[in-house]
Amino acid sequence: MSENTQFDTLSLFTEQQTTNTTEQGLKGTLKPDKTAVAYWTKCLEIIRDNVTPHVFNTWFEPIKALYWSNNQLTVKVPSQFFCEWIEEQFYSLLQKTISQVIGEDARLQYQIVVDSNDTLEERTIKVPAFRYPPHPVQNESRSGVPGDRSLFITNLNTYYSFDNFVKGESNQLAFAAAHAVSQKPGKTRFKPLVIYGDTGLGKTHLVQAIGNSIVQKNRNARVLYITSERFTMEFINAIQNNTVNEFINLYRSIDVLIVDDIQFFSGKEKTQDNFFHTFNALHQDGKQVILTSDKPPRDLKDVDDRLVSRYHWGLIVDIQPPDLEMRMAILQRKSQNEGFELPNDIIEYIAKNVTNSIRELEGALTNLIVRYSLDNRELNIELAQEVVKGLSKKEPKPVTITEIKKLVADFYKQPVEILESKSRKHEIALARQMAIYLAKQMTQLSLKSIGSNFSNRDHSTVLHSCQTIENYLVTDPSVKSAYETLIKNLKNR
Ligand code: ADP
Ligand code: MG
Repeated sequence: MSENTQFDTLSLFTEQQTTNTTEQGLKGTLKPDKTAVAYWTKCLEIIRDNVTPHVFNTWFEPIKALYWSNNQLTVKVPSQFFCEWIEEQFYSLLQKTISQVIGEDARLQYQIVVDSNDTLEERTIKVPAFRYPPHPVQNESRSGVPGDRSLFITNLNTYYSFDNFVKGESNQLAFAAAHAVSQKPGKTRFKPLVIYGDTGLGKTHLVQAIGNSIVQKNRNARVLYITSERFTMEFINAIQNNTVNEFINLYRSIDVLIVDDIQFFSGKEKTQDNFFHTFNALHQDGKQVILTSDKPPRDLKDVDDRLVSRYHWGLIVDIQPPDLEMRMAILQRKSQNEGFELPNDIIEYIAKNVTNSIRELEGALTNLIVRYSLDNRELNIELAQEVVKGLSKKEPKPVTITEIKKLVADFYKQPVEILESKSRKHEIALARQMAIYLAKQMTQLSLKSIGSNFSNRDHSTVLHSCQTIENYLVTDPSVKSAYETLIKNLKNR
């Protein structure tokens, strides 16, 4: 496995631990202790009752207890993907089970034991779980149509709530509007509600909190959260598969439609046209539409005027960067949630020096906690200074899947569209698998959304592509060198 391998949310941990591991030597250290085995056996009993036998055998049977210490249960998993898959699919089940069996504060930690082909020696990487917001949970509710037993997928991540959203002057209005809409969706004057502001200031958090709050109050509400990119993708797929009517009907049957980052509709005429009609239909039926954008609607480029004027029918409200007091409040709240009591001078230092976005503040805090808890560093100003310095050095712009596709296609001298084709020709399949693998590594997207960007391939295909490339990386130097070049180009883009 390459050193660049990362986890979506835990790359810092992985990096830290890879070196440690080699020092620890390994084999002898993996003997399970009795308490761990007892706890895990109990957990498995509960899990077995909550998943199908097939899922149990595939995903839980292979997990073995290792040790129990410091309120942390460490279990052994066979691969990085395995661990990631479990986190993505079974986060809440695992969390509930662990807290039921062991206690609310107990943590689960995965130890990945990889059989490396050449040396046959076990490599371990420790990944603490349950420290971060869960991956999107598929929150399901009934469709609301009597007799219709189909499940309706909301795409909401239950982590985002009003309760864990820190309020301040900079988001006061947006918060108030969001809260009002959540109380009476479709019945306020905010139709649509448009929230705009720079990246990392809490737009997604707020609109997802609206959705979660509505679903919590009414399990029958048909709430759908979707990014504009995904909406576009689904529309294109519907055209290709001749299912435009189903697409339109689905969207028009929604009670609360949340579309995130509408700036990406720019220049996509057909999608805009479709969205315009969807919007009108929902509006006419008294349904709620909620939108976010990185700029005020009037500044959006290449967007149909009719659509922009619709956005102005409701309320357009912005979120501003947080002021110092709010940044401090956020650090305080988030560190407490992580179980840390940060000294005031550290909070103040970080809040004074990390000013752009709340996402960055979270990054600084995570970084601080990682260094403190994994490197056994002291919690002092020097550590905070290092963290802040580290942040300003690398401030990489998030890579988009579109950029990855373009770069990979150029590299393999193929047209971009071919990456989405069904072709099984070796060089095309390889390029596609490489693009999927890079998307997995370089973006925060879930396996599912990566799949949807490659002609709706499912999780297992995405997983398979990633595994194929991982295998090539150890067996085929030409793939390894291609991979290294692509990573370099992506980082330097
Ligand atoms: P945006 O969609 O505007 O780019 P996000 O909603 O993704 O920003 O927010 C970035 C991160 O900051 C998320 O992890 C989110 O939970 C957190 N965050 C943003 N605003 C707040 C807030 N007011 N209180 C607590 N956390 C926040
Ligand atoms: Mg967002």
